[in-house]
Amino acid sequence: MAAEKNRPSNTISKIKALRKRELSVEELADGIVNGNKALLAKAITLLESTQPTHFEKANALIEKCLAQPNNSIRLGITGVPGVGKSSFIETLGTTLTSLGKKVAVLAVDPSSSLSKGSILGDKTRMQSLSKDPNAFIRPSPAGTSLGGVAQKTRESIILCEAAGYDVILVETVGVGQSEIAVHSMVDFFLLLKLSGAGDELQGIKRGIMEMADAIAINKADGSNLEKAKLAVTEFSRALHLYPPKANGWTPKVMKCSATENIGILEIWHMVEAFVRQNKENGYFEENRKTQNKNWFLQTVDEHIKQFFYQRPSFQKAKAELLTDVEERKISPFYAAKILLGHITKEL
Ligand code: GDP
Repeated sequence: MAAEKNRPSNTISKIKALRKRELSVEELADGIVNGNKALLAKAITLLESTQPTHFEKANALIEKCLAQPNNSIRLGITGVPGVGKSSFIETLGTTLTSLGKKVAVLAVDPSSSLSKGSILGDKTRMQSLSKDPNAFIRPSPAGTSLGGVAQKTRESIILCEAAGYDVILVETVGVGQSEIAVHSMVDFFLLLKLSGAGDELQGIKRGIMEMADAIAINKADGSNLEKAKLAVTEFSRALHLYPPKANGWTPKVMKCSATENIGILEIWHMVEAFVRQNKENGYFEENRKTQNKNWFLQTVDEHIKQFFYQRPSFQKAKAELLTDVEERKISPFYAAKILLGHITKEL
C-alpha cells in the first residue's frame, strides 16, 4: 500500500484494472509457464469456477498446459486426521526445495464444502513451506461431489506441472472414497499411520492396504520409537499376504518423524527408486495412460447421466416407475427397461 501511495494515480488505476480484468487464456498460460504463482492461483480459480462462460476458457488453458513438457512425480499422501500429514508435507516439501526442486501441494477433501473440512491445506498449517518461493500450496477445491472435487484437483495438477513444479503432493484424508480418487491421479500412493499397541492392522479401511505403495509409521520418536519399530514389522508381515503388484514393486514399510525430520529423506529416496524402476519397466507411463483413459471414461459416464437426469420427461418417468417398483406393481428390471426406452426415444 505504501508503494502504491507514491505511484501516479493512473499507474495505480492500471494495476487495479489488471487485477480486476479477466485475463485471456494466453496471458494466463504465459504467466503459468513463466512461474508466476499469482497467475497460477488465478488460473486454478478459473478452472474451479462453475460459471459456464469459464468452462471453455479453462479447457483451452488446460490444453495449452498439457502441451508443456514435464518430468514430474505425483505423490499421494493419505492418513487419518492427526497422523501428521501436514507436518510430513511441511518437512518433505522443505527438504525437496532445499534439493532444488519445486513443490506443489494440492488436496482432495470432499468435506470442505460442508464445513471447513478436515484438510485446510493452507498457510496456517505449513508455515515454512507456504513462505518458500519454490513451493505452491492450494487448499482443496469445494464441490458437491467427490467426483467434481477430484476432477478440479486433477486439472490443477496439469497446471502446476506446466508451471514447472517437479513434485506434486496430493493430500487427502480418508473420507468416503477420497483415497481411491487420489490413488487414481498419482504415481505413488503413501499411507501414513501411527503405531498403536499391537492393534495396527485394525481400523484400516478395506482396500487401502492394496492401494498403498508404501506405509510410513509417523511419530517414530521419543517414547514412541519402540512401538513404531514393532508396527513396521507387523505391517511388513501383513503386506506380504497381498499378491505382488503388476509393476513388480513390493510395497515398503518405513518409519519416520515428521517433526524431528527423521526418515523423511529416506522415504523420498524410496519414491525415487520406485519411479526409476517403473520408468525402466514401462509401468510409469502405462499407469498414467490408464489413469487418463479412466478419467476420460468416467467423465463421459457422468455427463451422459447428467444429460438424461436433467430432462424433466426423464425425471417424471423415473419418479413414476420408482413408485410402481415400490408398490410392487412392476419388477425393477422391467421398470429399468421401460425407463431406458425413454432414453432411446429422446435421441
Ligand atoms: P494432520 O491432521 O494429519 O495434518 O496432522 P498434523 O500434521 O496437523 O499433526 C497433528 C499433531 O501431531 C500436531 O500436533 C503435530 O505437531 C504432531 N506431529 C506430527 N508429526 C509428528 C511427529 O513425527 N512426531 C511427533 N511427536 N508429533 C508429530
